[in-house]
Formats: sequence, C-alpha cells, structure tokens
Amino acid sequence: MSGILIDHVTKVFPGGFKAVDDVSLEAHQGEFMVLVGPSGCGKTTLLRMTAGLEDVTSGHIAIGDRDVTWLPPGKRDIAMVFQNYALYPHMNVQANLGYGLKVRRTPRAEVKSRVNEVARLLGLNEMLARRPAALSGGQRQRVAMGRAIVREPAAFLMDEPLSNLDAKLRVGMRGELARLHRRLGVTTIYVTHDQVEAMTLGSRVAVMHDGTIQQVDTPQALYRRPANVFVAAFIGSPAMNLVEASVVEGKVEFAGQTLALDPRRAPAGDRHVVLGIRPEHLEDSELADPGLPRIEISVAVLEELGSETDAIFMLDAERLELEAIRDANENEDATLIADDRRVQFTARLDPRTRARVGERIQLAVDMTHLHFFDPETGANLLPEQPVTV
Ligand code: ATP
Repeated sequence: MSGILIDHVTKVFPGGFKAVDDVSLEAHQGEFMVLVGPSGCGKTTLLRMTAGLEDVTSGHIAIGDRDVTWLPPGKRDIAMVFQNYALYPHMNVQANLGYGLKVRRTPRAEVKSRVNEVARLLGLNEMLARRPAALSGGQRQRVAMGRAIVREPAAFLMDEPLSNLDAKLRVGMRGELARLHRRLGVTTIYVTHDQVEAMTLGSRVAVMHDGTIQQVDTPQALYRRPANVFVAAFIGSPAMNLVEASVVEGKVEFAGQTLALDPRRAPAGDRHVVLGIRPEHLEDSELADPGLPRIEISVAVLEELGSETDAIFMLDAERLELEAIRDANENEDATLIADDRRVQFTARLDPRTRARVGERIQLAVDMTHLHFFDPETGANLLPEQPVTV
C-alpha cells in the first residue's frame, strides 16, 4: 500500500486548453481522497493522468516511493473503476473477477482462492456462475469493484463509479464502498460531481474549479469554514444563501436588513462583503431562541420534506455577478424567477413551523454561523480557526 503524490501537475490539451493548472495534492497511505467539482473542472483529467491514461504536460506523479509520471498504466500498480465499467459479457462472474489475475499469469489455485475471497467480501459468492446479463445493475457494479480489488493494487482510482445506478442503489453502494475501504484500507482517489457523495465518502475532499484545487479538507472543515465563496456555494444542500452586504460599525446591512454582529464572528473593520448564511441557520422565530435577531420575509414556496421544511423567499438585493457562484450552483435550480434586484434565499425550518405560502414570517438568524467573503477575491474573511460556541 502506498500514498499518491501529485506534484505541480498541469495538463494543456492540443489546441491550448488548460484543463488542469498546476495542481498539487497528496492522498496519504490508506486515505479515501475525493475529487469533487462541477462538470468540466478537470477532475477526470487529473485522475486519468494519475492512472497513466493521459500524459502530463508538466509536473510529477508518485505512487508510494516510485515516480510513475512516465510509466504506462499497467506498470503503476493501480486498479481503476469507471462509470462505464465493461464486464466481459460472455464470461461468468468468476471468470470476470479472475481475468486480470489470469492475464498476469497468476497460478490457477491462487486465482481461485482470491476470487472466492473477493466474492465473499462483496456478497457475490452465490452468483459466480452467472453472466453479467443475469445480474442487476448493483451486482454488476460490485463485480466491477471486485475486479479492481482482486488484484490487490497499491491504490484505487475511481471515476464516478456509482453514477449509472439509480438513486436508492447509489446510497446503498456508497455505504458498501465506505465499508470496503475501512476493511481494505487501500489508498483511493475517487472522482464525483456529487457533493453529497463526496462528503459522505471522503476522508478528505479536494474541491476543484477551473482546473485548480480550491480547498482540501475534511468534510466537516469544508462545510464549517469554506476557504472561498466557490467552496461555500458548492458544498451544502440546499446551497448557502449569498448576498452583497456591508459591515458597518459592528453591524451587517443587507437587503434592507440590519443585524448586530457577534464580535467573535465578524470581519475586521468596516467593509463591503459577500454575506453567507446557510439555510439551517435561519429558523422560524416562533421555534427559535427568542434572543436571536430576526428578519421579516414573505414565504414564496414551502417544500415539506418530512424532517424539515424548506421555506424559499426573495430578498430585495442586487444579484451577485460572481462567476464562482454561477459555476458552483450550475446544478441548483432556481425555484423562483430572480432578477437583477432580487435574490433567492432558502431557510431550513423545523417541520413544526406554521409558516404558510404568501404569509410574512419572522426568521431568527443564528449570528454565530455567518460567513463573510471578499467580493473581489472571494476569499473567506474570517480567521481559519473560527470561535465555536
Ligand atoms: P465531468 O464531470 O463533466 O466529466 P470533469 O471535471 O471530469 O468534468 P474533465 O473531463 O477533466 O472534467 O475535462 C476538463 C476540461 O478539459 C473540459 O473543459 C473538457 O472539455 C476538456 N477536455 C477534456 N478532454 C479533452 C481533450 N482530449 N481535448 C481537449 N479538451 C479536453
């Protein structure tokens, strides 16, 4: 087993497009590192370079203590699992699982025992004689995973391996993957565009945008202290509410509202900011701590989800014209028609709320969890170790 070190790697495709721009990233030995980002951010290209399926333009890649930058895929001691895993249709599960070992001239008895062990691990032992056509999607995906595991590689590289499965199966397979990783402890780099998958699977998560890494951190740290407005907008569902604001004399002013700041949770000095409030930090004031400051809003849409009720409303504020926010939220549907003067917000309310569509309600704001970003650079304006209460 070995870690993977990606060292100042750049990829410029013929024609001049820079898909990966001077990326450095280390997956420690045994770590499950997730690469996440919107479509086109360069995550697949970075994984393919690590696998040896794509040349690097510059930089180095090491697996364990070997520099593999110019080694072909077969010499890198890695196993890959992709979205479009192709099983051999004419071979049964046993032969599919053993094929990689067989072509490496592994003795027959050893192939058999390793295939049996992996089949047991993945719950495939009852299906060894079946061909792929007689398996469900989840079972086929397990065989694909098994083919990677059976080779006992130094590292796994996975590119959206669950995205062909339906939503429910995906959640089940996610759990299985996490369990397998705990059991095998093989260093893994896993690419996904799904931030929930990233947050639930990753020991650490690398967030990519425009060919660069924006932040590498544990899921909790990404959520609690996003390094910049892109990470803030990308991580979390529903997404963080973001609005232009001014910090003036210990207060924050936005969309006609003024709230007194918690001095332990405020940027230094008076300045223009992008204010971020996660939906779970806005609560129906009737169900919240009466000491919290409030804003009054008019409920436009209520989404009752059982364990929570999302209230969607508009604030009169200039729309933020930040490319980072647009890119981060490309998959988030705007529920309401926003325009240049109105911004859509979401509050995640206690399901006991009596809020009704069209009515005005007071929302309590949890001031200890506000986020502030520089409107020019997007950088988080709070110190790295936020004071938690
Ligand atoms: P997705 O989730 O959509 O697969 P991604 O983050 O994995 O996105 P990549 O597949 O790495 O993105 O692609 C990054 C960028 O590089 C994209 O803009 C893509 O169009 C471009 N690109 C990928 N392969 C090539 C190629 N062979 N030639 C030129 N440009 C390419």
